[in-house]
Amino acid sequence: MSLTVAPEDVLVALPLWPDPDELDEINLDYAATTPALVAAVRAVERAIPWYASLHRGGGRKSSVSTTLFEEARAAVARFVSCEDASDVIFVRNTTEAANLLAAALPSGTRVLCSPSEHHANLLPWRRHRVDHLPFTTSAAAFLDAAAKSLEAAHRSGDPFSLVAITGASNVTGEVPPVAELARLAHGRGALVFVDGAQLAPHRPLDVGVLDVDFLAFSGHKIYAPFGTGALVSRAGGLADGSPLLHGGGAVRLVTLNDAAWAPSPRRYEAGTPNLLGAVALGAACNALTAFGMEEVAAQERALASVLWAGLDAIPGVHQLRQWRDAPDRVGVAAFTADGWAAHELGAHLGARGIAVRAGSFCAHPLVSHLLGIAPSHTDRLLREISDGGDVSIPGAVRASVGLGTTRAEIDTFLRVVREALAATT
Ligand code: PMP
Repeated sequence: MSLTVAPEDVLVALPLWPDPDELDEINLDYAATTPALVAAVRAVERAIPWYASLHRGGGRKSSVSTTLFEEARAAVARFVSCEDASDVIFVRNTTEAANLLAAALPSGTRVLCSPSEHHANLLPWRRHRVDHLPFTTSAAAFLDAAAKSLEAAHRSGDPFSLVAITGASNVTGEVPPVAELARLAHGRGALVFVDGAQLAPHRPLDVGVLDVDFLAFSGHKIYAPFGTGALVSRAGGLADGSPLLHGGGAVRLVTLNDAAWAPSPRRYEAGTPNLLGAVALGAACNALTAFGMEEVAAQERALASVLWAGLDAIPGVHQLRQWRDAPDRVGVAAFTADGWAAHELGAHLGARGIAVRAGSFCAHPLVSHLLGIAPSHTDRLLREISDGGDVSIPGAVRASVGLGTTRAEIDTFLRVVREALAATT
């Protein structure tokens, strides 16, 4: 069993690496970043001779570069079934996308946020007014809490304008009931932002099916690690917002006192855009669409269930899970191991040629909650940090799969974890 796209599209590490044997490592850290698809690398190689300034340049190269950039935008739009390519804004990554949206919203916007988010989908909303939903033990209870919060805010006359939620957790892999949440939010007049960083590489994405208003994802997590991601809005949802970045290319006219912003997407893409990043992202979207995201999902599910069941079968290993009724789960498994500190086990695996992630995965509130750490304890850690203390933040080990992961790699990983646990008992 191997998640290989197609013979000519197999994953590359770095084609020009001097010694391919040095790359002989088991990569179980796809949730952090993925290697590049050959299709993305080839597209960049083809674009480089044509590299020139976009939109405003004269000459043939500039015109070809502009066409490549806009074709990439159209490819991203097709990947998420967005009807109008001008609703795709190129950004550096998901973090920038959430910050861009936060900056575009009117000051004081009321945001309802899940507590289980990556920091990229927690911190940007704090420039407005944000309420967090409670942690729940089931997706059904989560929806219930969301319905109550939306209803209460609506009745109070101060409704939420935005609901922010992840498409898939980078800690548990759990997929929240996004479409149901969107229905509740829309019923109370709120728009919905989905952090698709972990969903985009694993599942078909359709903004219409999810019924969300804003969707963000990162190229480096969908096999196009060249520094570009996307924020997709629906039906001109970002036509009039304030841009995050102020500068050239985003304006129609500037006077010494004022500026007229360009229409979206240009108003949000100030400065020289990352053409090669966009080209890589567009090519990866096309390659994944051609291969079929349903097929990607089916192959990944088969492999991920071996990973999850294998971890559950090792005495002393405890997977971090939030909900038993999550509608779906992508190929991510974070766990603790009796007798091992997370960073020690991560280093132990690394020394045996297996790349995983150890820590709290930029999701401190969720990881602390799942590890049973009381908020009073994390508040104390915060105080210690502000007093200049050197605190250690509790964490877990995370293994995650993607295109190119093989059954043999998972078996090796499980064997090394089993042996590590056996050695401590
Ligand atoms: N959201 C989730 C769920 C993530 O896993 C990540 C990356 N770990 C991010 C947001 C942030 O992505 P980026 O670093 O590409 O901005």
